[in-house]
Amino acid sequence: MSTFPHPYRAFTAFLGTSFAAGPPPRRQFLPAEFRETLLAGAGERLPLLDAPVLDWELAERVHDADYLRRWRAGEVTRAEERALGFAWSPAVVERGLASSGATLAATQDALALGLGINLGGGTHHAYRAHAEGFSFLNDVAISAQWLLNEGRATRIAIVDLDVHQGNGTASIFAAEPRVFTVSVHGANNYPFQKEISGLDVALPDGTSDAAYLATLQDSVFSALHAFAPDFVFYLAGADVLEGDQLGRLALTPAGVRERDDQLCRWAALRGIPLVLVMAGGYNTSPQTLIAARLGTLEAALESRIIHPLLQEVVNSLQEDQVQLSAEVAQLLFEDATDWISHGEYGLALQMLTDRIEDMELLFTASWWRRSLKLAELLGVHERVSVTYEYLAQAGLIAPEQ
Ligand SMILES: [Zn+2]
Repeated sequence: MSTFPHPYRAFTAFLGTSFAAGPPPRRQFLPAEFRETLLAGAGERLPLLDAPVLDWELAERVHDADYLRRWRAGEVTRAEERALGFAWSPAVVERGLASSGATLAATQDALALGLGINLGGGTHHAYRAHAEGFSFLNDVAISAQWLLNEGRATRIAIVDLDVHQGNGTASIFAAEPRVFTVSVHGANNYPFQKEISGLDVALPDGTSDAAYLATLQDSVFSALHAFAPDFVFYLAGADVLEGDQLGRLALTPAGVRERDDQLCRWAALRGIPLVLVMAGGYNTSPQTLIAARLGTLEAALESRIIHPLLQEVVNSLQEDQVQLSAEVAQLLFEDATDWISHGEYGLALQMLTDRIEDMELLFTASWWRRSLKLAELLGVHERVSVTYEYLAQAGLIAPEQ
């Protein structure tokens, strides 16, 4: 799927003129020309907005005031620069503020729309009073603290699926029971001294799709279920992919897409607002990385748009049919829900309308109107409209009441 109408948008620090030069040139980062490709691909899927710059005051609610003062003034040591991975410059500080501002704006979107997106973000190695691992400000921690201070959330899950442990985040919220930190990471990846998260899963080198996805099912979703968050931050690191320069796992692009689908759907199905931040990704193949990032965006969008629309069509099976027994409606509902849960949205709708055709069931014109619109979004309009035409000619569409 490429494009469909929806209310969502993404914030990015890469558009702003003062940060347009992008991150400092580390060989592991996506080269500038590929960043343009990524932005263009993202822009086809949703509007991109300039990152608003964060107020220092909000950063101070998470980070140590003297630490922030020194970084603001450029009073940092060589050792601190080495831990960060860059030399200090005003641009490093501005980018940190823009990236954190983008996550905060995405957080406000999630409160209003259910889903908020920062095309960057996820600087999870930043501690309260020290920088490391390309992370100077902890954007997700700042936004989570903002939600708590504003009383907009009371049980926040930070699901960090970047290949590196979210050590800064775990440390910042170690004594905060309202925040549940989850980190699934490579056991042998940086940071070598790990912190204690609410849930840590350390995976061996070369972990494949199947083992990774089993971990999600066995550990992560049950822990999320038990915590029952009212807000979720999702760090969708692409550095779990095989071929990552800084990761040691071996997921395929299909495995990453399945991971993103499962996580985004988990929150969407429960109506829990979700903020998506991209976190790490340093693949030797820029094309692979870009495809994974766009897949992550699509997973988040589909979970909020297609899924609810299809669910609405399925939920109205009983209301909108005219001659259907409750038992048959229930069977159709159960089948369709099963197909949906596998993420085969187009197939689910197609199979549903095929059944309706086979059984020559009488549905209202308004039910069909919703289904045809959805079929268009899902790219199965041709097939579903053939079914519709057949039933219409046979007089099997009930007029509007
Ligand atoms: Zn990472």
